[in-house]
Amino acid sequence: MSDFVILPEQDRSTYCTAKQYKDLYRQSVEDPDAFWLGQANRLDWFKAPTRGGEWSYDPVEIAWFADGTLNLCHNAVDRHLDQRADTTALIFEPDDPASAARILTYRQLHGEVVGMANALKALGVGKGDRVTIYMPMVIEGLLAMLACARIGAIHSVVFGGFSPEALAGRIVNCGSRFVVTADTGLRGGKVVPLKANVDAALDHDGVEVDGVLVVRHTGADVAMAGGRDHWYHELVSDAECPCEPMNAEDPLFILYTSGSTGKPKGVLHTTGGYGVWTATTFHYVFDYQPGEIHWCTADIGWVTGHSYIVYGPLMNGATSLVFEGVPNYPDHGRFWDVIDKHQVNILYTAPTAIRALMREGDHFVTSRSRKSLRLLGTVGEPINPEAWRWYFDVVGEKRLPIIDTWWQTETGGIMITTLPAAHDMKPGSAGLPFFGVRPQLVGAEGEVLEGATSGNLCIRHSWPGQSRTVYGDHERFVQTYFSTYKGKYFTGDGCRRDEDGYYWITGRVDDVINVSGHRMGTAEVESALVLHPLVAEAAVVGYPHDIKGQGIYCYVTLNAGEAGGEELAAELRQYVRKEIGPIATPDHIQFTDGLPKTRSGKIMRRILRKIAENDYGSLGDTSTLADPTLVDRLIEGRQNS
Ligand code: ATP
Ligand code: MG
Repeated sequence: MSDFVILPEQDRSTYCTAKQYKDLYRQSVEDPDAFWLGQANRLDWFKAPTRGGEWSYDPVEIAWFADGTLNLCHNAVDRHLDQRADTTALIFEPDDPASAARILTYRQLHGEVVGMANALKALGVGKGDRVTIYMPMVIEGLLAMLACARIGAIHSVVFGGFSPEALAGRIVNCGSRFVVTADTGLRGGKVVPLKANVDAALDHDGVEVDGVLVVRHTGADVAMAGGRDHWYHELVSDAECPCEPMNAEDPLFILYTSGSTGKPKGVLHTTGGYGVWTATTFHYVFDYQPGEIHWCTADIGWVTGHSYIVYGPLMNGATSLVFEGVPNYPDHGRFWDVIDKHQVNILYTAPTAIRALMREGDHFVTSRSRKSLRLLGTVGEPINPEAWRWYFDVVGEKRLPIIDTWWQTETGGIMITTLPAAHDMKPGSAGLPFFGVRPQLVGAEGEVLEGATSGNLCIRHSWPGQSRTVYGDHERFVQTYFSTYKGKYFTGDGCRRDEDGYYWITGRVDDVINVSGHRMGTAEVESALVLHPLVAEAAVVGYPHDIKGQGIYCYVTLNAGEAGGEELAAELRQYVRKEIGPIATPDHIQFTDGLPKTRSGKIMRRILRKIAENDYGSLGDTSTLADPTLVDRLIEGRQNS
């Protein structure tokens, strides 16, 4: 297949070349221990490891670098004080573009992290304690994470948009006795009552903590419970606070998955392996060079924020931009304004944001310069080729490489991606495995499929960044990832490998549609729909069909200002039929003003499947749904259509 998009040669000598990629990849799979012990030298160890991977998938026990001792806050902050104390570590861009940006050098970051670590200690936090961080996207959120790492506490960041119920569940699930929050947050000009939400969460039966640390951010009035709640600025101090030596396998954080396929899992990552994985992937995939500005638009409430706003960039001594706001405030040009204002070089964002900006038209983009950009990245969902094209043509003006990075909360960091200069790109394909990653496509009976084929995506050999367990529920970890196919890590994603060895995520295995015996991923049909000039976004699910077994049910949103109807539905059916073939012809099209998404912006097809099946009683875990009111509108639309 020659669907490659070939870029003009990249004028950059530091990029990993095709030959280097091949050599390094070979080394990484031929002798993983030697390879990863070598990469471990990127970090500063108190005691360097001599042991590589020690793991088994039956029983499931995973360890890397188990005799090494280190601290990731030391690696992200203190170790830079010799060489780059005056380099900018963090740039904070506030929600309101008229408010002042804030800049922290590594020296200043060090002072702030020590202050936060002392405040946590004053609150009573010690090594091994779980600390729930429920913050807006402000510097103090990152400080809280790094301060936990510094003193050996385990952070559990809960996205600031979650409800008190969702927060309460996550506090209880990991037995957290401490919460770090802010008075209120700002997102798109709207106030988020964080402290009040914490209070409401702590009002729930069985939810009890020893201390709440409150950062004054907006200055809003909030209630403070005597004995329990403390202002950050009253506990902060600059007393000496050394980095706690941690064993490589000591836990670093717990993070709940997005909940796209069911109840979120409290994924646990440990210190050494996660540190090596994020430092190495950040280095090779983004090829960060001194002086560049890196911007990952995720929230620290998601793994993308952990790995590529905080740990990966800071361990590499990079300048990382922290954005409090949203892409459409004050208007749909905000991303490009931020890029011009701070001269951003690397933009790492998600398909949901790209599709949302695309539907508003090109002028928001083209009216801004974007000249500083060097690299574009995407993560989170399959990116439809149409959206990829727009990102490439309009945002990148056909001159910038795009990396489509496939990975999961459980993998710790990037697993499949092209590298900017080593590989040509294919719109819609994540590309090739990163060093040490050995993907396998597996059939329904567990048979390994070779060559160009489709199957269930598994990973064969352990890698340092792999999650070690689901916190407090190792059995769920074993069941979810290691029981379907013996001896392999099962990702839950369906995937196609083409004749060039490129990987294409076809959707969640749970969402596969079976039409008259033909198995179809959701991504392909959705991408065909999105190709239509009026369609902004589409989600496709299977539903019971008398003759075909399953029929194809499509939920479609249109570009700003467009309206759907019978005529357009008929046209879309023809459109998909022509793009993919008669077998993929949609049976039903429902126009909607929105799609149910997780708080991290992923389409929750399991809810759409229930609605298509006319089964509204048991929608499953909806705690991570971004807009619960949408469900009623979707059901109404289903009943009227
Ligand atoms: P849950 O596990 O609770 O159902 P989730 O899988 O959505 O939630 P995350 O860990 O945030 O939680 O997301 C990982 C998933 O996101 C992957 O399994 C994959 O389906 C999807 N994904 C991430 N990046 C890409 C990408 N570049 N291309 C295709 N799919 C991607
Ligand atoms: Mg998942």
